[in-house]
Amino acid sequence: MTPRNGKKSIFDEAMETFQRAADLIGLNPRVRLELGDPDFEHIFYVTIETRDRLVPLTAEEQAEVRDLPPSSVKAADALEPLANGQFVLHRRALLEADIHIRHGVISIPQKGCFRIEKGGPRKFKAYRIQHNQVRGPYKGGIRYHKDVSLDLFKTLAADMTWKTAIAEIPFGGAKGGIKIDPFNYSREEIEHLTLRYIYKFKNFMGPFLDIPAPDVGTNPEIMAYMMRQFTDGEREHHKMRGVVTGKDVRIGGSEGRLKATGQGVVYCIEEWAREHGFTLKGARVIIQGFGNVGSSTAEILHGMGARIVAVNDANGTVHKDGGLDIPALVQHVHQNPDNLRRTVARFPGAATISKQDFWSMDADICIPAALGGEITGDVAERLRVKLVAEGANGPTTRDGDRVLATRKIDVIPDLICNAGGVTVSYYEWLQNQRLEHWTEAEVNQRLEHALKKNYAIIRDIARNRPQRTALHDSRRYCVGKEMDVRTASMVLALKRIEAHYVLEGFSQ
Ligand code: NAD
Repeated sequence: MTPRNGKKSIFDEAMETFQRAADLIGLNPRVRLELGDPDFEHIFYVTIETRDRLVPLTAEEQAEVRDLPPSSVKAADALEPLANGQFVLHRRALLEADIHIRHGVISIPQKGCFRIEKGGPRKFKAYRIQHNQVRGPYKGGIRYHKDVSLDLFKTLAADMTWKTAIAEIPFGGAKGGIKIDPFNYSREEIEHLTLRYIYKFKNFMGPFLDIPAPDVGTNPEIMAYMMRQFTDGEREHHKMRGVVTGKDVRIGGSEGRLKATGQGVVYCIEEWAREHGFTLKGARVIIQGFGNVGSSTAEILHGMGARIVAVNDANGTVHKDGGLDIPALVQHVHQNPDNLRRTVARFPGAATISKQDFWSMDADICIPAALGGEITGDVAERLRVKLVAEGANGPTTRDGDRVLATRKIDVIPDLICNAGGVTVSYYEWLQNQRLEHWTEAEVNQRLEHALKKNYAIIRDIARNRPQRTALHDSRRYCVGKEMDVRTASMVLALKRIEAHYVLEGFSQ
C-alpha cells in the first residue's frame, strides 16, 4: 500500500527486509504470499463511561474567580491526579465535603481553581492484527498509545512472526492495542477500557489461539484485567492462565519476565562485546526510553559496571558524564507517585540536555528502547557510538540503516535483541500449562542459552560461516553469501517458518 503523499507505508518499508531475505533464499512463492500480509486484521471500537474531571483554569480565568471561597474535600483519594494537570473527580469527593461551586468553577486549597467538566461516554479505536500462526498460537503485545495505526500494528505483528521463529518458540505473530493516551485517564477508566477490549475480542483469543502481552503503555496490572475478563465465569479458569503473559508473578506470571526484554538485550550485548574483545565494565551507554525495556536494561548494565551517561524519554533528557545513578533514577521514575508521566525529566543530580545533544553524545553503545523510527539517517549521522543494540521494535529507518552501515557502526537487530521478552513469555505460558513455577535463575539460564545460540546462528548467516559448535549449528541456515545482520535474522526466521509450510503442507 502506498499512501497518497507517495511515501512508503511503515509496513511496506519494514517488509523490504522480508522481500530481500525471501529473494536470497528463494522462498517458496506460496509461502511468500502467505507471509506478505496478515491472516486477520481486526479493527473494532470500545466505549467506556468516563468520570467528571477538574480542568485547571488559565491564569486569566483564575483572576476572575479570586473571591470564590475554597472547598474542602476530605476523602483523601477522591481527586485522582492525571499527568495532563487535570483531576478525576470520584463521587466520594462529596463525602463530608464543604463545597462551593460558582458557574461550574471550584477552588481547592493547594491545588488551584478548576472548571468541572462532565464525563460521559467515549469511544476508542482498537486493533488486533494476527499475522501468522503456522508455528503456533498468535503472540504479541498490546499497546496503549495515541500514535497507533493499522499500518503500525501490521508491521509489529509481522515482526512477532519473525521474532518467535528466531527465538525458536512455538508461537506465531500478532500485535494490537488501543488508540489512546493512557496518561489522561484514571486507573478505573483504563480497567474498564481493557475489560471492554477483551469482551469484544474474546472469541478470537485463547491460550492456544492468540496470547497478548504488555507493550508500550500496558503493564502486568492490565494483563491481570485481561486474564480476569477472559476467564470470568469459567470454573476451570486456572487452566486458562496462559491466555496472557507478562502477568504479576503472584497470579501465574514468570519470575524474570518483568526484566526479560532488558536481560535479553544485555545477553546480546555481552556476545557482541565478547567477539570484539570489548569490556562492558566502564563502557559508556546512552539509552532512549526508560519504561520497562529501557530501565531494566539500564539496571542490569549498571550492575555490571557500565556507565549510563544519558537517558532520553518522551518528556526530557538527563545526562551525567560520570554515569547516572541508575537505582536513584528508577526510584525517581517508577516509584515516585508524583511523577505522573513516569519521566526522567527533573531528575536531581543530572544535567538536562536536548534530544539533539543526546544523539551526539560520545559513548560506546546506544540502546533505543522507546518507539519505532527514531534512528533516522540524520540521527545515524550524528551518533558517536560503536554499537546500536535495538531494544525497541523498529527503531532504525532504512535510511538510518544505510548510514550506520556506511559509518561501520554495528547493529544488533530488534528481532534478536529484544526477543528476551517473548521468550520468557513462552516460559510463562509453559509454566501455566504445567501449573509450575520456575526460579529466576532457571528462567535466565534458559533465556541466555536461547538468545546466545540464535544470535550466533544469525552472525554465521551474515558472514556465511556455516559451522557446528557446542552452542549452535548454523549449517542449515547459511545461504552461500554474506549479508548484513538484519537480513540474516530474517533469513533465519523465514527458513524456520518455510519448513512448516513445506513439511506440513497447506490445508486447502
Ligand atoms: P514503556 O511504555 O514501558 O516505555 C516506553 C518509553 O519510551 C517511556 O520511557 C517513554 O517516555 C519513552 N518514549 C515514548 N515516546 C518517546 C519519544 N517520542 N521519544 C523518546 N522516548 C519516548 O514501553 P516498553 O515496554 O519499555 O517498550 C519500549 C519498546 O520496546 C517498544 O518499542 C516496544 O515495542 C519494545 N519491546 C517491548 C517489550 C516488552 O517486553 N515490554 C518486548 C520487546 C520489545
